[in-house]
Amino acid sequence: MSPTCPECGATGVPLMFGLPVPEAHQAARNGDLALGGCLLPEEPPNWQCPRQHQWRDADEEAWENRLLAVLLAYGYQPMEA
Ligand SMILES: [Zn+2]
Repeated sequence: MSPTCPECGATGVPLMFGLPVPEAHQAARNGDLALGGCLLPEEPPNWQCPRQHQWRDADEEAWENRLLAVLLAYGYQPMEA
């Protein structure tokens, strides 16, 4: 389940900060995730809706799972631990 935007009610996509992997760029172009840039704000939002509203959801695990699912769908190969 993805959280919905508190401003407009649209379904959010994971918002990630930092240097994105190539798969993240591709996913962002298709609107499956959002890129927040390299600088991490102090209280970073972690979701964004198609109208570019950003908000923070406390459920970090749901965010991580969703982000990983999107990246894997684009062929991302997680590094072995
Ligand atoms: Zn919105």
